Amino acid sequence: MPIVSAQIIDGKAIAETVRNQVAVETQRLISESGIIPHLAAVLVGNDPASEVYVRNKERACHKAGLKSTLHRLDATINQAKLLTLVHALNSDPDVHGILVQLPLPKHLDSMQILDAIAPTKDVDAFHPENTGLMLQGRPRFLPCTPAGVMKMLELTGVRTAGKHAVVIGRSDIVGKPMAALLVQKGIDATVTICHSRTADIGAVCRTADILIAAVGIPKFVKGDMIKPGAVVIDVGINRVGERLVGDVDYAAASSIASAITPVPGGVGPMTIAMLLQNTLTAARLVQKRSQAAFTH
Ligand code: NAD
Repeated sequence: MPIVSAQIIDGKAIAETVRNQVAVETQRLISESGIIPHLAAVLVGNDPASEVYVRNKERACHKAGLKSTLHRLDATINQAKLLTLVHALNSDPDVHGILVQLPLPKHLDSMQILDAIAPTKDVDAFHPENTGLMLQGRPRFLPCTPAGVMKMLELTGVRTAGKHAVVIGRSDIVGKPMAALLVQKGIDATVTICHSRTADIGAVCRTADILIAAVGIPKFVKGDMIKPGAVVIDVGINRVGERLVGDVDYAAASSIASAITPVPGGVGPMTIAMLLQNTLTAARLVQKRSQAAFTH
């Protein structure tokens, strides 16, 4: 049998499409209302990976015409001072989105910090109020990485209705919201979540029409875990020496799957694009509130 190569789902190109759309809509918002969408990023300490992520987010904001400011804090900052900054950003009318770059140093309670972000400025969509709204199918913001995956599926023309989607990983940031989005009305996938205690994970994965890996283990998904013709989405970003590799054995998978995302250049660029989208949405919420106040 000839080896058929999977279609490569180009996250860079799809992310650019989304960012260009955000740029156009941002200009429209500015000309209609004078509101410039503004993302405030908080970076605690100087973890090199976090530095890169924050810099990329800032650069993407500026390129799309959004405003972005960075609040750099010393790694030794205490919980109370960080909370004070979050409260100040919450009440700053010029700030529409707040992003606290994770991970925070171990002495800080990340959950308390994230919960303190005003839900209407929670552009990472980690606040329980936003998680609840998403689960109920009336989202305010969607969590960036799972939303990026959904956008990739949509723009690649992957059919989801009635398909079996298997998500590997149950984190609050990727796995759980990913499954929640796939099961929503209108998307209509039948969803299975696998995790570290799943029995015979290979057998479960082999039943997937759409297989989404968010495990954090390099090349966790082997070729024999993939159903021929499946769509494979690799969320993993793992540093192996100098290289970034995904959670999927790309070489093996690309001769079995019908479509696959590469690492890098797959899901990664989508995450930032969706963050810009959420920041624009947050600014529009302010526009709507001021229009509503004007008409009352
Ligand atoms: P996490 O460590 O919080 O969660 C990993 C999940 O994998 C857990 O739920 C666990 O149950 C599951 N798991 C671990 N070992 C397993 C095993 N042996 N068998 C089956 N399941 C197992 O990680 P996360 O934050 O969800 O991130 C997952 C990966 O995605 C990481 O590589 C991370 O770097 C990457 N990531 C990428 C982006 C992006 O923008 N592309 C964003 C967030 C995370």
